[in-house]
Amino acid sequence: MSRVKTCKIDLETTYPCPCRKRGQLCPIVLTDAFGCGQCHQIFVVRADGYVLEQLSSIYPYQQLWYWTGKDWLLVRRPLHQNGFAWLVGSLAALFLLMLSLPIVFHIPFDRRVMVWMLLTIFIALMLSFMVWLTIYRQH
Ligand SMILES: [Zn+2]
Repeated sequence: MSRVKTCKIDLETTYPCPCRKRGQLCPIVLTDAFGCGQCHQIFVVRADGYVLEQLSSIYPYQQLWYWTGKDWLLVRRPLHQNGFAWLVGSLAALFLLMLSLPIVFHIPFDRRVMVWMLLTIFIALMLSFMVWLTIYRQH
């Protein structure tokens, strides 16, 4: 994580919304939360007062931001690495499955079977990469 100055989030101030709709984050009275008039998302300030967290996120995990005084800085959590580890793990499992299939079904290991297996693995790899890239691009 780069050393960027982060400011404490003031619950009495309006901020620009981290969404890309140029919304305004307005404090919600009596809560540690902000609401956006454009994207209608609720953002809560974490206990330390420095991190803004998106509630009811459509993503499988919550997005977090730091306030730099001018702009929101998306907190780069090691989730991409987790996603990548998950991807590598599932590919390894797939690879093992592909290798074990001919043994399980007593298919002789000839060149044609190998080509089909490699092609299947390649397609699976490309699909997984595309999914991963789509997730990554949302940040
Ligand atoms: Zn918004």
